[in-house]
Amino acid sequence: MKQSKFISIVITVFAFAAGLSETAVAQNQRVLAEALRITGDKFTVSVRTPKGANVFAVTRPSASVLNAIDSGLTDLFAVARKNRYSRRLNYSDYSVYIGKADRTKDSTGQYSPDIAVGAAQYGGTVYDQGGFIYAAGMVIANDPCSFVIAEHTKDFQRVSNVVRYEGEHLVLYHNDRRRYRETADHSKGGGHPILQ
Ligand SMILES: [Zn+2]
Repeated sequence: MKQSKFISIVITVFAFAAGLSETAVAQNQRVLAEALRITGDKFTVSVRTPKGANVFAVTRPSASVLNAIDSGLTDLFAVARKNRYSRRLNYSDYSVYIGKADRTKDSTGQYSPDIAVGAAQYGGTVYDQGGFIYAAGMVIANDPCSFVIAEHTKDFQRVSNVVRYEGEHLVLYHNDRRRYRETADHSKGGGHPILQ
């Protein structure tokens, strides 16, 4: 009797866990399709950072890149807590897609791996390159928290910065919707860091 009860509890817990992971897989498939649409890249590599953030990439990221992602998230969570935000402050809440860089230098010749994305609301602004803009990073889904950055082979501090900056939009989406709306669209002015 005691044993059968235990088994039924185990089965319930297992079914609940399976349901959760199915939802997570479905969400990831949707975000993956969006990442593919935006970058044209196939994200066949799936790894975790040492602190547990999810990383999807075209080629296997170096340890330096993974550590830089963790460092950017650590900074993000610290400044989020300072602003009394508490939601989505776990490394595992975040998925970082690392796409191929569409350029590796900016207009001044500085190392600056960026991705080209459709201009949309940035058309006609200083960012417009003729129907597209170069972006260091871009949010691809608010839930689960997902954004894309470009492959870096050096200047890993820049990776940390981009992770922190894209993460700002996601933290605001989940903690302060009004401030999120005010700061999400850079074509109307304003940049990063948003949170101080
Ligand atoms: Zn931004």
